[in-house]
This record gives sequence, C-alpha cells and structure tokens, in this order.
Amino acid sequence: MTSNRRSFLRFSALALPFAPATKLFGKTAVNKPIIVSTWDSGQIANGAAWPVLEKGGKALDAVEQAAIAIENDINCCVGLGGNPDRDGHVTLDACIMDEKANCGAVAFLERIKHPISVARKLMETTPHVFLVGEGAQQFALANGFKLESAKLSPDAEKSYKQWLKKAEYKPVINIEHQQSHPKGHGPFAPSRLEDGSFNHDTMGTIALDASGDLSGMCTTSGMGFKMRGRVGDSPIIGAGLFVDNEVGAATSSGQGEEVIRVCGTHLVVELMRSGLTPAEACKKAIERIVKPNPERAKTFQVGFIAINKQGEVGAYSVQKGFNYTVTEKGGKGKVFNAESYFS
Ligand code: ASP
Repeated sequence: MTSNRRSFLRFSALALPFAPATKLFGKTAVNKPIIVSTWDSGQIANGAAWPVLEKGGKALDAVEQAAIAIENDINCCVGLGGNPDRDGHVTLDACIMDEKANCGAVAFLERIKHPISVARKLMETTPHVFLVGEGAQQFALANGFKLESAKLSPDAEKSYKQWLKKAEYKPVINIEHQQSHPKGHGPFAPSRLEDGSFNHDTMGTIALDASGDLSGMCTTSGMGFKMRGRVGDSPIIGAGLFVDNEVGAATSSGQGEEVIRVCGTHLVVELMRSGLTPAEACKKAIERIVKPNPERAKTFQVGFIAINKQGEVGAYSVQKGFNYTVTEKGGKGKVFNAESYFS
C-alpha cells in the first residue's frame, strides 16, 4: 500500500466514529485529557473521573474514581448490586493498569465493595499482580476494606428467583438496548429484566491525562448466574484491559471467554503499535474473534474500546448495540454507538 493511501485510510477510519486529534502545522495536536468508558453507564464513570483529569491529575486516579462510582451504584450490574452466580453469591472481578506497566487484579472476590481499590492496593504494596477468592478477600480485610453483607440487592434477588425457575445458562445479547425494555440500560436501568433474563455487564475505562500518560481499569460482577468460580476476561491483564504508555490502551465488555481466546485488549494495543488507528484496531480484533467460528459468533456480544497516545478513540463490537462514553474538553460525556461486525 502506498503511504498516501495508507494515510488516507487512517484519516477516514479516524473520522468514523470519533476523530478528535487535529493536525497543526504538520504536527498532530494531542487530544488530552480524555477518558472513555464502555456503555452509556460510562456517563457515571466518566463523570466521577473527569474532575481528576480536569485538574491535571493522573489517569490512574481518574480511572479508579470511575470504578468506585460505578461499584457504588447498586442498580448497576457491576459491583455488589450485580447478579449472583448460579449458587446465589455475587463474585467480583477487577483490574487496573498504569503508564509504567504496573498492574493489579482480583477475581472471584466476595463481599468487598470496591474490588478496584483492592486491585490497586495489591499493585502498589506487593510484588504480585493477581489474587483470587479467599486470598483476595483476606488481603482486602487485612488492608482495611470492610466485609459487606452477603445479601443480594433487591433487583438481583428478584431476577435470581426468576432465573432459578428454569436455571438455564443463556445470556441474551444486549438485552439492555432493546427498545421494548422500558428502562433502557446502565445507570438508567439494571441490565436484567423482570422475567429473570439477563445480560453481562462490565465497566471498562481508559484515560489519557494532561501529562500524556495512559491508565485503565475494568470492573465487573461477571456474567449473571455463571458457574461458581467462573472468571471472565475483565480481571485479566491483556484480555479485559491492556495499557502500553508508548502506544495506547484498550478495554472490553461482553462474553469474556471470547475475549480471552484472542488475548483481546493486548491484541488491540499491538495492532495500534503496528500503525492502525484505535477504530481499525478494535475492528481487526473483533474480526479475529469472529473468524474461527462465525456461526458461534452470532450468539454472543463482545465490544472493544481503545485510545491511542494522540487521544484518538475507536470502538467496534460483534453485534449491534454496543456503545461507549467519551468525555473530553468541557467535561460533558457523549455517548457513541459502536460499529459492529453483524448489523
Ligand atoms: N466481560 C465480562 C465477563 O465475561 C462480562 C461483561 O462484560 O458483562 O465476565
């Protein structure tokens, strides 16, 4: 491909769906600070994080604030308000990564409100990067985190009781975006329906701060009514989240097993390293997921969002219905619909 054609393609891909970086006298002006989160519930996450970025604070602090805000929201299927596993326990997964490739993760963590802060504590005070289950809870308690009640939130309890009637494990793609659902998605409704059907839901946030440094986080209660002990992509560095401060950052939402198969967010970042825009990289990574089994791919959703060092943003998903929230100058979060493989 000639370099002219390559730059034309890069430019056109940037124009859709999101192209913040502008060229000034032959130099690309970096669009910063900027923060991007999965889903329209990213408005809550970005809203909590933006004051940190606006004041010139660190991307790492901003993404932690994003996670805390969403983990606090009892109506969101992310923290302790989320759907339980099939034995009736809410188990949480989260990870965080900064500009120096420091990272921390926890999985299968029960009764702790802010798994993200436990992950950060692990990253900052131990030589380890990943703790699970009882060990993760023990570490949290030893570090001053409080043991919360094991009781389900009222919404989660209602949908668990419904689910128990059939006890079928069958995620429904993007149920929260169906027009027929009166409550919508995310902050405006939990992603579960009164008939007990459910969806998976995760908050992934990536940010570029005023100093030009990148960080990211991913936090979830995982797929509702999962097998006890099941862990998805969200707490796995390179699957649910990856940050490389020379290149960019990416995070994911959707059926974690499919993201793990291709080391999804690591793949997105490596594709950006090879010269693709964030939008192109997300698209290629989704194609990599779909290609081995397009029939199977019709049954699940995966969405990626990515940001590069210039503050350019992109997203792509397997199915229609994935959206994401971008907050930059002015501080008002804007929701974009991602393009998708299947229309
Ligand atoms: N990715 C999460 C998981 O597989 C679920 C989600 O995004 O909703 O656990």
